[in-house]
Amino acid sequence: MNDPIISRNLNWVVHRTHDDPEIFRRRASIETKRLWIGCSDNASATLETGAFEEDGCLVYRNLGNQVSPHDFGLMATIEYALHIVKINEIVVCGHYRCACLKSVIQNEPPSLSNCWSGPIRVIFDERRRQFEEIVSEDAQIQSLCELNVRMQIRNLQENVLIRPLLATGRIRLQGLIWSPRDGLLRDLGAGVSKPKKSSKKRD
Ligand SMILES: [Zn+2]
Repeated sequence: MNDPIISRNLNWVVHRTHDDPEIFRRRASIETKRLWIGCSDNASATLETGAFEEDGCLVYRNLGNQVSPHDFGLMATIEYALHIVKINEIVVCGHYRCACLKSVIQNEPPSLSNCWSGPIRVIFDERRRQFEEIVSEDAQIQSLCELNVRMQIRNLQENVLIRPLLATGRIRLQGLIWSPRDGLLRDLGAGVSKPKKSSKKRD
């Protein structure tokens, strides 16, 4: 068989097991305690950062790494992660140069993906003057990528599945952003381990 996907996978397995013969046996037995929520449009290997490989994570992706109570797939995944796998941490991991968020700033014509990113567009429009003070479009996108992660952490705090577990300290939330430029993860300081006091106020 000459399928390049199969060939590259075989080379990868040979390389990894040469360095660590037990790697797949060890990882197959991992009982992860983490759910990772990331973006679909990132062609780079966000999960292969050196941060998540050893203790693993459940994974959910959508455009713009959004947390919406209307995303049935995500809500089912969160419920499964909390009550079956019994995770104790949820990571929202955004990334710079996000094409989904770039489309928000560039106000692209209506499409299904633009409809999906509507909640981010609302936040952007609320802060449009603040963003207009940022000189370059690249810097605007970078700022929106960070703001978006904070917004999704807030959405998690307000989620009915998560609020009771935050109140008891059973679950904690972490907001990270990954840079395809240098491969580094950065902590946005948005993490929480207790419930948000007000669900109305937007900062
Ligand atoms: Zn993205």
